[in-house]
Amino acid sequence: MDMEFSPEDLAFQQEVRDFIAENYPAELRGKQDEGDELTKEDFLSWHRILYKKGWVAPAWPVEYGGTGWTPTQRFIFSEETARADCIRLMPFGLAMVGPVIYTFGTPEQKARFLPRILSGDDWWCQGYSEPGAGSDLASLRTTAVRDGDDYIVNGQKTWTTMAQHADWGFFLVRTDKDAKQQEGISFLLIDMKSPGITVRPIITLGGEHEVNEVFLEDVRVPVSQRVYEENKGWTCAKFLLAHERTGIAGVASSKRGVERVKQIARTELDGDKPLLANPFFKRKLAELEIDLTALEFTELRGLAGPNAGKGPGPESSLLKIKGSEIQQRLTELTLEAVGHYGAPYFRGFGEGDNAHPIGPDYAHRAAPTYFNMRKTTIYGGSNEIQRNIIAKMVLGL
Ligand SMILES: Cc1cc2nc3c(=O)[nH]c(=O)nc-3n(C[C@H](O)[C@H](O)[C@H](O)COP(=O)(O)OP(=O)(O)OC[C@H]3O[C@@H](n4cnc5c(N)ncnc54)[C@H](O)[C@@H]3O)c2cc1C
Repeated sequence: MDMEFSPEDLAFQQEVRDFIAENYPAELRGKQDEGDELTKEDFLSWHRILYKKGWVAPAWPVEYGGTGWTPTQRFIFSEETARADCIRLMPFGLAMVGPVIYTFGTPEQKARFLPRILSGDDWWCQGYSEPGAGSDLASLRTTAVRDGDDYIVNGQKTWTTMAQHADWGFFLVRTDKDAKQQEGISFLLIDMKSPGITVRPIITLGGEHEVNEVFLEDVRVPVSQRVYEENKGWTCAKFLLAHERTGIAGVASSKRGVERVKQIARTELDGDKPLLANPFFKRKLAELEIDLTALEFTELRGLAGPNAGKGPGPESSLLKIKGSEIQQRLTELTLEAVGHYGAPYFRGFGEGDNAHPIGPDYAHRAAPTYFNMRKTTIYGGSNEIQRNIIAKMVLGL
């Protein structure tokens, strides 16, 4: 594999660096540095800047608003945005339902929804999981019953990320109770302001409001908001999950995370020497960096290999497993590096708390982030499930 960037790629890299330096919102940078909780507007500010530049959806086909970049340019872009610690764009519209709509949607659905996903005018959430249906997603029980030109939807979804901000949600619902599990499911786009929808917060270990329960009681949804055929929603669901898993590897942001841990370990002392000089800490950091480099090469091989451009395959499960484990190990090392200064923040600081922060700024987010990142091996299909996929689809066991 040729690892050298061409002169054109290097020029592109510089263009991206310059653009970020000149356009990344200073206020957002300040909040990130302080570890403040980010609002919907914070998330959207960078999204809108990229949209104006035409860079918000590099993976989309050009006809729907993509950039037409080569896989290498896309790699450079994600590398540079992570290196500059730019906020990650919300994936639910851009990386999940958008590709489903341009692949399976009607011309009307494409015209109605895609431009607003690109512009950030619609915030989306994902209504897949239910209290009794996570790994075994096909056993979901939320129903949609035909009533003229509408479906009447009843049921409960859970772990719905950022549903508190959502204008729209994409939901998996059961439209045929008698069919075999996967064959009775449809994919609906639901306006989150519809009467009958209640969103209730779930506060996570790190003290954050990120996930929710969503209750649907007699929610009326026009049939025109069903994507693809009735009872064929599983096809869209599977397509979307593979997209979800590739983004999850997070190589570029983990590389940035390694630099951050190194910086902390240079500052924190172990006796009278920097922590970075401690052989045990150094070994753990080196092992992590080696694994991360291996993951990066695996991702690059996918970009350069014979299947490049064909969309993610079962190997995305591998990226998900290794990527999520590395993200967790990074937060463990950070917590270890900040030591006792992490302890006051074990429960997170809630809104209205007036306690004075102690310790260096980088210590404040260490514990909440450590707890928050436990999610990475669960969401997007748990790592045990990914191992099952690799066993079956890659190793043929
Ligand atoms: C922070 C966070 C955000 C999320 N956001 C969303 C969202 O926006 N929208 C959405 O729809 N869902 C979301 N999810 C839900 C997520 O997809 C599920 O939590 C996940 O699929 C696991 O399902 P479960 O929680 O029901 O656990 P279960 O399926 O009950 O699994 C429990 C344990 O058993 C293991 N297990 C289950 N089956 C097997 C098997 N066959 N072989 C081996 N091990 C097995 C699992 O790996 C896990 O360790 C989110 C979850 C989290 C934690």
